[in-house]
Amino acid sequence: MKSLLLPIALLASISMPTFATSSEQSLQDAQQLREIALRSHLGYDLVESLTVEVGPRLAGTPADARAVAWAEAKFAELGFDKIYKQPVEVRHWERGDASASIISPFPQPLAITALGDSVATPAGGITGEIVFFDSVDELRAVDPKQVKGKIVYIDARMHQHREGKEYSLAVAGRSIGSSVASEKGAIALIIRSVGTDKSRMPHTGNMRYQAGVKKIPAGAISTSDAMMLMAMKKRGKAITVKMDLATTSFKPKTSYNVIGEITGTTYPDEYILISGHLDSWDEGTGALDDGAGVAIAMATAKLIKPFKPKRTIRVVLFANEEGGLIGAKQYRDANAKELHKIKLAGESDFGARSIWRFDTQVHPDNLDLMAQIAKVLKPLSINHGDNKAGGGPDVSILPAKGVPVFSLRQNGTDYFDYHHTANDTLDKINPEELRQNIAAWAVVAFITAQSEKPLLALEKNKEVKH
Ligand SMILES: [Zn+2]
Repeated sequence: MKSLLLPIALLASISMPTFATSSEQSLQDAQQLREIALRSHLGYDLVESLTVEVGPRLAGTPADARAVAWAEAKFAELGFDKIYKQPVEVRHWERGDASASIISPFPQPLAITALGDSVATPAGGITGEIVFFDSVDELRAVDPKQVKGKIVYIDARMHQHREGKEYSLAVAGRSIGSSVASEKGAIALIIRSVGTDKSRMPHTGNMRYQAGVKKIPAGAISTSDAMMLMAMKKRGKAITVKMDLATTSFKPKTSYNVIGEITGTTYPDEYILISGHLDSWDEGTGALDDGAGVAIAMATAKLIKPFKPKRTIRVVLFANEEGGLIGAKQYRDANAKELHKIKLAGESDFGARSIWRFDTQVHPDNLDLMAQIAKVLKPLSINHGDNKAGGGPDVSILPAKGVPVFSLRQNGTDYFDYHHTANDTLDKINPEELRQNIAAWAVVAFITAQSEKPLLALEKNKEVKH
């Protein structure tokens, strides 16, 4: 029996995986694709087309319907093999005019915008004394007597960071502040804009009334006005503010996830899902959020097409991300039995700047493939990060169903200067950075599509019953 024992070196070579991860040819193709993408204007042309020909596209509005029509027509123009849409019921809310001013002790106007889904103020506006908080947690802890009949103001600050780190903390006041304030008897909520700029552009964004709580109007003032208001507070006198929000809520409407595919040559039923969200807030033109993501996903697939991907490249333009991942949840539920066919998913939804890191959340057996991808990304100055990626807002709900995801992390240093403001416009996009960004997406999607080794579901999938 002893003669059957093999030298260790030979054993190691026998235990190598049966499948190559990606062939030498695929890696050469990926490098060529990367160089083509770095010279392509397509991504910029797409985001220009969406922002110029459609503009703002708040879910449920006629502009949202025009965006859906734009996406279908654009997929067709680009020669996608399969184009279809999935209905999604969305909220239909419109902003109307918004104004606010300090009545006393030092009268002057404030730049304000309504938060998404806020009720209107009564005709003639609402006037009250301001009571100040640094955070929702501080508001939660306060005796209701101090808030009753007053306007709650939350001054949660955030600073610039490449990864947008403080957003999730600062955003709590925006999303649930009105309900917490209302439960304590407040008549309205004003927040400091969730943003990193020094400007008079207020930032809107989604909020949600908790069931059973009286709906009170909610708005955000610009960061410049927030600073002034805090300085006025130091004068030690009670501050009275009047606000007037003319919002309207309509019946829900049908919008759509719009999907385009480049059909795989070898494994047409296996999908590499790349995505952005088609809706935007209404004051800017949604160039960064998320016209850029729409353009990145569409351009990536179009650039890959001539290289004949083995797996299908599926581009999903999600409906109503801003309303709380509404299109994504519909996508997940409507495709519950098919999710195992999605071999990798990612969404671009953090602007249009250059990528600096590649993160994944894949099965450990596929980490060797990810390392191959990282090598092709290296010349783009992209580091290989960890295996804890979320994948982007709309696809972040898929790993719980076993779907592997990736994140190409882009420089978001100034993203929250413009996010959800009238200033989210095309001129903020640097075409050169956008090209680097798309080149990275093309490399990831293409090498994964070509893998000769099977792409495995996340193991947590075993615990999830569809
Ligand atoms: Zn977004």
